[in-house]
Amino acid sequence: MQQTMVNQDQTGFWSGLSLWKKILIGMVLGIAAGVIMGPNAAILKPLGTLFINAIKMLIVPLVFCSLVVGVTSMQDTRKMGRIALKSVVLYLATTAVAISIGLGLATLFTPGEGLNMVAGDTAAAGKEAPTLIATLLNMIPTNPVGALAAGNILQIIVFALSLGIALTLCGDKAKPVMGLFESLAEAMYKLTEMVMKLAPYGVFGLMAWVAGTYGLEILLPLGKVITVVYVGCLVHVLVFYTGLISVLGRLNPVRYLKGLVNPAAVAFTTTSSSGTLPASMKAARQEMGASEGVSSFVLPLGATINMDGTALYQGVCALFIAQAFGIDLVFSDYILIIMTSTLASIGTAGVPGAGLIMLSLVLTSVGLPIEGLAIVAGIDRILDMARTTVNVCGDLMVTTLVAKSEKELDDSVYNRSETKPESDLATA
Ligand code: ASP
Repeated sequence: MQQTMVNQDQTGFWSGLSLWKKILIGMVLGIAAGVIMGPNAAILKPLGTLFINAIKMLIVPLVFCSLVVGVTSMQDTRKMGRIALKSVVLYLATTAVAISIGLGLATLFTPGEGLNMVAGDTAAAGKEAPTLIATLLNMIPTNPVGALAAGNILQIIVFALSLGIALTLCGDKAKPVMGLFESLAEAMYKLTEMVMKLAPYGVFGLMAWVAGTYGLEILLPLGKVITVVYVGCLVHVLVFYTGLISVLGRLNPVRYLKGLVNPAAVAFTTTSSSGTLPASMKAARQEMGASEGVSSFVLPLGATINMDGTALYQGVCALFIAQAFGIDLVFSDYILIIMTSTLASIGTAGVPGAGLIMLSLVLTSVGLPIEGLAIVAGIDRILDMARTTVNVCGDLMVTTLVAKSEKELDDSVYNRSETKPESDLATA
């Protein structure tokens, strides 16, 4: 008996580790491999692509099924309206704060000073942001199957909500379909757990590729802007989010930070908040204790409209570019930057590099040279890793607060001690 246990200890080192530790090891080994192998590390990228494809596979069915179940389990449409309103207000308000932090830090640390860039043709061709009305109208899918096939999350949310409400109103007659969705949602949660087991290997491949492609020396001239974005992101999560969690939610912020670890690692390495949805939905339910109803609605909505990290990055980059080109901005420019980024973040997909495209809109709105994009594009992936992580942490923060305020947060799950049985390993 004792012999068997010893054997298990020896052979089970890797399998005995909790998932977040494995992800962390994958990340560190990936960076080491990238630094050693240089551009050749690109051969490891397929490992990452495999993982990314596997999580992408989950997004549409997971969001759709769990949202329908979420609505039918809530039974109360007035409550849903309240949850939607609270989420949207929190999402937009925190985004405005994020961009202000970015602007503040970039003013303080002037990352672009001394670069002395000269703009060529600054007549930035007006690439228009979609209007708010167009964005809102576009949320209604004219063809729900098309929306599912295209993976248009906002449209899927609208259709799933409507279907859920209709099923609830049908009562007993709709029971078989509700049961079907419940089973499908369960199966999707199980599949998420299975796919998350691939995370350490995927993260290894992605980190090796990033470190190998960018190298360490290429980062030096742009080190200041990278530092300012990373510091801003840390301040936003560690000070602002934890502050809201303690003050508004009256919850222990350390538990919130612990619960973030897995989705944050996935966000950091995949740079896609939509792609991180399966991991964040799992964390919201199993780490934060948010109900299925709240998490299946608030999280997909956040992955689509809430981009605090992206907004913060845009604030920093807009000022960085203005400083690099020696352009002075006035107070109204700052207000314009805050407004355009906050609005542009609605309806922008949580996919890699989306923030860079949005940055071009912000630059255009205040007449900054679009050439500036080229400077930051080179390091976009590195900035994307930080901003996507903040985007996801913000989604989980709002989900936790909304769940708490709606009495949909299981305090015993949120506050439970760190030691968990290994059967819970996939969430640890
Ligand atoms: N990659 C980010 C996200 O998925 C969006 C961005 O590029 O800023 O949240």
